[in-house]
Amino acid sequence: METNCIFCKIADGEIPTDFVYENDTIAAFRDINPTAPEHILVIPKKHIENLNELNDREIMADLLFGVKEVCKKLNITDYRTVINTGKGAGQEVFHIHFHIIAGRPLKWPPG
Ligand code: AMP
Repeated sequence: METNCIFCKIADGEIPTDFVYENDTIAAFRDINPTAPEHILVIPKKHIENLNELNDREIMADLLFGVKEVCKKLNITDYRTVINTGKGAGQEVFHIHFHIIAGRPLKWPPG
């Protein structure tokens, strides 16, 4: 738990949040500023800054399986997953998270 980390506070229950999915190691909740009708964030409960700092294979697997569990639970079949890593890539919250974006047509390459 990092005292100044908003996602640690969410994971810890300090900021009350409706989880769309939760297990022992990860939690998923809706993005406060959604970019699509479905925009969900999947985080590890443990504080890890970003992908560069993620060296635990179990947590890697938990996150990716978590993405699948969330999509299964919400009947989302077509979606985009994004991990922004570093300020230059648009990372704003330095607690690793997958974005799940869905519910509208998504162009590729992204526009
Ligand atoms: P990133 O730019 O990849 O670090 O994404 C951070 C995301 O967290 C943004 O899409 C924000 O809208 C979202 N966010 C920030 N604070 C909260 C919060 N308290 N609850 C839910 N989503 C949040």
